[in-house]
Amino acid sequence: MARIVQKFGGTSVADMVRIKAAAATVKRELDDGHQVAVVLSAMVGVTDQLVGYAAEAGGAHYSSEYDAVLATGEQGTVGLLALSLQEMGIQARSWLGWQIPIRTDGVYGKARIENIETEALERCLGAGEVPVVAGFQGLGPDGRITTLGRGGTDTTAVALAAALGAERCDIYTDVDGVYTSDPRIVAKARKLEKITYEEMLEMASLGAKVLQTRAVELAMKSGQRLHVRSSYSDAPGTLVVDEDEIVEQEIVSGIAYSRDEAKITLVQVADKPGVAAAIFGPLADASINVDMIVQNVSAGGKTTDLTFTVAKGDLERAVETVAANKKKLQYKDLISDSDVVKVSVIGVGMRSHAGVAQRMFTTLAEKGINIQVISTSEIKVSVLIAEEYTELALRALHSAYGLDAE
Ligand code: ADP
Ligand code: ASP
Ligand code: MG
Repeated sequence: MARIVQKFGGTSVADMVRIKAAAATVKRELDDGHQVAVVLSAMVGVTDQLVGYAAEAGGAHYSSEYDAVLATGEQGTVGLLALSLQEMGIQARSWLGWQIPIRTDGVYGKARIENIETEALERCLGAGEVPVVAGFQGLGPDGRITTLGRGGTDTTAVALAAALGAERCDIYTDVDGVYTSDPRIVAKARKLEKITYEEMLEMASLGAKVLQTRAVELAMKSGQRLHVRSSYSDAPGTLVVDEDEIVEQEIVSGIAYSRDEAKITLVQVADKPGVAAAIFGPLADASINVDMIVQNVSAGGKTTDLTFTVAKGDLERAVETVAANKKKLQYKDLISDSDVVKVSVIGVGMRSHAGVAQRMFTTLAEKGINIQVISTSEIKVSVLIAEEYTELALRALHSAYGLDAE
């Protein structure tokens, strides 16, 4: 008998037909003699709608009430699945984050799970009951509801699997695994049988939303194998595993993109010590993450143009923050552009193979796509390009690295 945590995402609980299908998946594992705990998202689209309502209501974007609103989506689906299981003669009950409790820090809108108390859930499992847990939500130190950031149900599932010592953590979604690129854009994307934690972590943080970054981080830390699979079939999906479990490692295993980027260029900033600190210090103080940075020294050597990127949602605040320091920075002009996309090629094989970045640059050049900013790490190369070239760039790179399915 194995203990299994099953997570169903928004499309996998989109309506009563999908919820009944999820219940049948739970039953299949129970019939095989396994113990099952379930973690659910809200119905697809519901959290987006709640975000819209919260915005209309006004007030602070990340606040306790904002999270109180967003967390309601998951309450409906856990109740409905528990009812459906009961209807099939299976003992089940719903659990909200605060009832377990799943304790988090107090950062509304992007809280981190600090601890899951498993006593109550263990009792539930021990009594042969299926706990159906609301994803995405927890209990902050001040006794208020917190949410874990968009896509956070993945993280609830992995944290719960680790806390319960589960043998398996199955992530049921609307694609049948992790692909070499987003299958909705790259028709020739291939399903990967296995992917390393490290590559999955890069893919997720660079935009592949099939798993939340924090969920992969947690899985890597706790050694929890993940199985990303389709809720529409029982075909095997993709295993997220340690590097030594993968025999034949490709040089590039995936290509990701993120439209959540915006670019700011400061034209003719004084080229002297302390300028970068004077730009990025206030941004950090305002909790604005800066991602890519590039600096060009001007011909005369007295001034420099500095370009950096932030999340689209932070653009307005970032511009205001920089503009507030204009006197000190003495730049000539500030240009912002949110019609950009970050495209990244990822692969642990890059550590031992040269020429990966070069192939990316050549491929984009052949398509006439201009590269605006570049950043690299040991296992990825990212470029910022105009958003209108997203599809073209992804497909061309996918072919160039030999990733296309036959
Ligand atoms: P869920 O609601 O089940 O959590 P998500 O919408 O969060 O599902 O994530 C699944 C989606 O991730 C897919 O529909 C797919 O469009 C997208 N995606 C992006 N990159 C990839 C990739 N490399 N492999 C698989 N899916 C990807
Ligand atoms: N419902 C939340 C969201 O849409 C959490 C999740 O589905 O993972 O972001
Ligand atoms: Mg998701």
